[in-house]
This record gives sequence, C-alpha cells and structure tokens, in this order.
Amino acid sequence: MANEKRVLLEYADQIDPRKAEDYIKVGGYKGLEKARSMNRRDLIEEVKKSGLRGRGGAGFNAGMKWSFVPQYADTKYVVCNFDEGEPGTYKDRIICEKNAQALLEGMAICATAIDSKQGYIYCRGEYPFMVKLLNDAVQSAKASGALGDFDIEIRMGAGAYVCGEETALIESIEGHRGEPRFKPPFPGVSGLWSQPTVVNNVETFACLPYILTNGADWFAGIGAASYPGTKVITLTGDIENPTYFEVPTDYLLRDVIYKLGGGIKDGKKFKAVQVGGTSGAFIPEQNLDTPIDFDSMAAIGASLGSGAVLVLDESRDIVDVVTRISKFFEHESCGKCNPCREGTWRCREIMERINAGKACPEDIEKLTVLSRVMKNAALCGLGQAAPIPIDSTLKYFKQEYSCKLITL
Ligand code: NAD
Repeated sequence: MANEKRVLLEYADQIDPRKAEDYIKVGGYKGLEKARSMNRRDLIEEVKKSGLRGRGGAGFNAGMKWSFVPQYADTKYVVCNFDEGEPGTYKDRIICEKNAQALLEGMAICATAIDSKQGYIYCRGEYPFMVKLLNDAVQSAKASGALGDFDIEIRMGAGAYVCGEETALIESIEGHRGEPRFKPPFPGVSGLWSQPTVVNNVETFACLPYILTNGADWFAGIGAASYPGTKVITLTGDIENPTYFEVPTDYLLRDVIYKLGGGIKDGKKFKAVQVGGTSGAFIPEQNLDTPIDFDSMAAIGASLGSGAVLVLDESRDIVDVVTRISKFFEHESCGKCNPCREGTWRCREIMERINAGKACPEDIEKLTVLSRVMKNAALCGLGQAAPIPIDSTLKYFKQEYSCKLITL
C-alpha cells in the first residue's frame, strides 16, 4: 500500500514463512552469515549503532541490552517474547505469519552475539495455530543448515496477560506460575534458570537480519533518528480500513488514521485514539500530528509499543470503554503485589460506579491518588500501566466523567 515502507513485510504473501528455502531466495540468512563473520563485540556495536530499540513497548536499546550479558557465563539463552497480550494487538502474529524465518534469523544473530546455543519462543496462549507454523519454520531452518548449532524451542503460554512481562514469562518457561520477579537482577544477568538471558520481542528480532544485511547506517537512516526503522501497526475500531501496516517511525498518527486507515467509518467524526493496546493512553484530536516514534509518543504520555491503534468515533462512551478496560486489568492482575491486586480491583469498582452515575467528585480524586500509587509502587508493568487509560481520559475527556457524576 502507498505510504508504507515495508522491510519486515516486504515479501508478505509471496514467500511461505515455514520454508527456509523461500526466505533464502529473497536474501534470507545473509545477515546471519555476516554476523558470524564478525567478532562478537563488533556485532553488538553494529546493533547499537543501528539505534534499534525494543519493539515490545519499552523502547530499550537492543544492542545495549545484549552488552549486559556477561561473556564468561557458560550457558546463555535467547528468548523471544511472542506473548503479545494486549487486546487489539496482533502485529507479532502478522510478522510470524508473513516472515517467521526473519524472526529465527534474528534470534540466531543474537545467539551469535552473546554466544548462546539455545533459544525459546514463548507463544501467546491464544495463538495455538502459530505453534505448528513456528515448529515447521524451525525444522525447515535447521534442515537447511542455516541455524547451525543454535536450537530453538517453541513454548506456549496459557492465556495469562502477565506472562508477557519478561520475568513472568521466564517463570512460565521454567514451569512455574507466571508471576513477575523483582528487577534487578535483570534477565541479561540472571534470567532463565538463573543464567544470562536476552529477552526481546518478535519485531525486535525480525529487524536484525535487515540491519546486518544492509548495515547499521541504513537502518539508522529510516524514520525518526531516536527510534529508527519501521513499525508494524494494527489498526482497529471505528475505521474504514482496519488492517495492518508497516511504516517508518516518523509517520504521523493522523496519517495512520486518515491515509492508511481511510478515516472514520460511516462518515462519523473522530473522538479518540488509544495507542499501544489496552494499557495505552487515549489521545485527542489536538495531538494527532505526533509522529509514532517512542520519544514523540512519550512526550504526549503515550507509547505505541504493542503497535495497536484503536480508533473511537464520536458515538463512543469513553467512560464505558475505560470501565471495560479496568475489568480486564482486575481479571489479569496476578495478585503478587498489593498495589496491583488491590489497585486494579479499586479502579474497576470506582469506574463502575462512575459509569453507573453513582459516583461523586471525590471518587475522581481517589482515582487520581490510586493511579499515582500504582504507577510508583506496582511490581511490574501490568500494575504500573493499568491506570494509564484512566489518567489519559481524565486529562483529555474529563467532561465525559463530569457529566456522569452526582453533584450535591
Ligand atoms: P522495562 O523498561 O522495565 O524494561 C525494558 C527492557 O530493558 C527489559 O528487557 C529489561 O530487562 C531491560 N532493562 C531495563 N533496564 C535495565 C537495566 N538497568 N539493566 C539491564 N536491563 C534493563 O519495561 P518492561 O517492564 O520490560 O516492559 C514494559 C513495556 O511493555 C510497556 O512499555 C508496555 O508498552 C509493554 N507492553 C507490551 C505488551 C504487548 O502486548 N506487546 C503488553 C503489555 C505491555
């Protein structure tokens, strides 16, 4: 589609993601060859120089993360986080369905950099059909000899949102209940079975073959300088063209909605857009001319991490939407820490009262305090991010709350 810049998805629907030979025909596994010809320090420097930042949501510099892995350790692991659990999020599924071999090659490049022999892909529990595709893809890559002595196993989650958090994911692979660990130590130093472990998102790994093949400078020159490359996004909600796209990271949010998405469905007016999935911020019309890169989004209190873009038209009841979201977080909280276990429960309870027209202005103050406590004190990203939809809508759509309150 015009306006897109396809790198990861350039050959979407033209190659079979399960077949290494299809991928090799379009230049696949050249990046890994190059990586293997470099010394490990130079390879990590090349990835750092490309400016590649984590595509799971946090935007951490990938090469920097790899550099934390101590070289003296005998056993090191490469783990791919394919537990995209945000409702409305499916960019990693698209990358695997269209270009799974690029993910495998990216993991093998990382394994070369940190000297690992074993990788795991942790697949979202709601994607059972992807396990077969990935197993076929690994088998084909191994049979072609491309992966060398690097082995990749697929592990499947059971549908818990918290298992997308890297340490809960590690616990789950180890066979324990999926609950987050305290950080530090970060997985780079002590991860899977207490060994140094690099955990990166599907999209982050899938960028690597193209960085190695075309060079760090080529990648660094695409999109926004502080968050270079492309971003795969999924557009849902009240939009004419709800599908996936790959665009450079300096692409404007307004263009995502109007150029790629074809505008609001049925000729209605725009009300809000939620970016980054259910834990993302709601953005009003006046902020639509913001590029989608990490830092520009952060400047308006948002993050496009999971790639989900949910558009709401003028008829949507914001308070009702946020109430549903608060139920999701209450349900998905693992209960390990108090701020999240109690906080998500209280957020849901207050939101339901507001939505039912049974709350008073003091309840809004309670929500604001609760949100601050959760952001500062919750153990992991789940509890820290759960109040973001509430905060952002209180900031930009306060009127929608005010008109539901009881005032004496
Ligand atoms: P984080 O900022 O704590 O960490 C990001 C990464 O950098 C981790 O791998 C961490 O180990 C590493 N890191 C950070 N500081 C480090 C340090 N000092 N030393 C060594 N390594 C360090 O964020 P997080 O909790 O991993 O992720 C939160 C993000 O997840 C949110 O921004 C959200 O957007 C995203 N998220 C995504 C989805 C999805 O479906 N893709 C779902 C929920 C949340």
